[in-house]
Amino acid sequence: MYLRSLELQGFKSFPERTKLEFNKGISAVVGPNGSGKSNIGDAMRWVMGESSSKSLRGKTMEDVIFSGTASRSKSGFAQVTITIDNEDRALSEDCDIVSVSRKLYRNGDSEYQINGRQVRRKDVDELFMDTGLGRDGYSIIGQGKIGEIVSSKASDRRQIFDEAAGISKFRSKKRETEEQLLKAEDNLSRLTDILGELEGRIGPLQKQCEKAKQFKVLDEEKSALEISLWVMRLKELDKQQKEFEEKLELLKKEYAEQTDALDEMEEQIEEGFAKSAQAGDRANQLREKIHEVELERSESTKKTAVLGNDIEHLEQRILQINEQIEQSRSSGYFLGTQLEEKKKELEERLNMSEKFQQDISDAEKKLTGAQYA
Ligand code: ATP
Repeated sequence: MYLRSLELQGFKSFPERTKLEFNKGISAVVGPNGSGKSNIGDAMRWVMGESSSKSLRGKTMEDVIFSGTASRSKSGFAQVTITIDNEDRALSEDCDIVSVSRKLYRNGDSEYQINGRQVRRKDVDELFMDTGLGRDGYSIIGQGKIGEIVSSKASDRRQIFDEAAGISKFRSKKRETEEQLLKAEDNLSRLTDILGELEGRIGPLQKQCEKAKQFKVLDEEKSALEISLWVMRLKELDKQQKEFEEKLELLKKEYAEQTDALDEMEEQIEEGFAKSAQAGDRANQLREKIHEVELERSESTKKTAVLGNDIEHLEQRILQINEQIEQSRSSGYFLGTQLEEKKKELEERLNMSEKFQQDISDAEKKLTGAQYA
């Protein structure tokens, strides 16, 4: 197994896509201070899953993304890919070349890939475990790291030697297994508690079970009875429905007849109103006629009164004349002539009186006729 290439894009001082090829044997990166040599080592550690920004000489993980210069704007993401020759199958992937890639965006989204397949960081850790590579491996030793190893505690050094000897994988598995064992023990004691609790509840539960069975039987009986009750009720309702339908038919018929009779009565009422209006007109005409006749009668009555006076006056006058005639019979022919004239005058006036009497009687007949018309 050996490193074949390292590809960087947007990582620290490498904004451009930069690919470094390595061959078997030793490769050296040479350059002036601050030219970015250590950034290459950082990229190696980062792609293998380094999570400490401090170890990568930054404050936050975003510091690994190219932050821009006066002449170039900052990058949106950083990406590093390493390609490893795996012909000896030192890595657990079953292929000759294994590529591991990590990408980080400014919003914090990140992703890992092994041979183009999206994976978790844990998978990358497991891939490099016990190979001497990996973020905690001894294969990358930064500036001042050797001094740190020499002066560190024996337990910390032990970790480095474990990794080198290839037993950290088994230690990790042992730790995991122990944790699982503890969890299983916990679960077992919890189950024992639950079991004890459940055993205490068996007796009452059996009684409840008996009651439940009895309830089920009774409930089924009740359901059967309810069903037959509903069937009977349904039949009864069917019968009632038929009766109501027949009654409804009869009522509809009656309603139609009543409606016809009502229409007829309305027509009659209309006719009655029309006749009443005509009779009203006729009554008004007759009232006018009666008024006219009454005026005529009162006129005739006045005239009759005048004629009565005249008759009375004439009768007195006749009496006077008769007296005068009696007186004049002896006084000669002249008076006889005068008498004839006066008689003639008297006859005319009597004729007029009869005529007026006739007019009055005609008027009274008209009045009577108008009242009974
Ligand atoms: P030395 O030999 O002194 O240790 P070096 O060659 O190892 O130096 P590095 O420390 O790898 O250099 O690189 C430092 C350079 O990388 C600095 O110029 C720094 O400005 C640049 N750099 C680091 N992080 C970023 C970043 N996020 N964006 C742009 N440039 C960065």
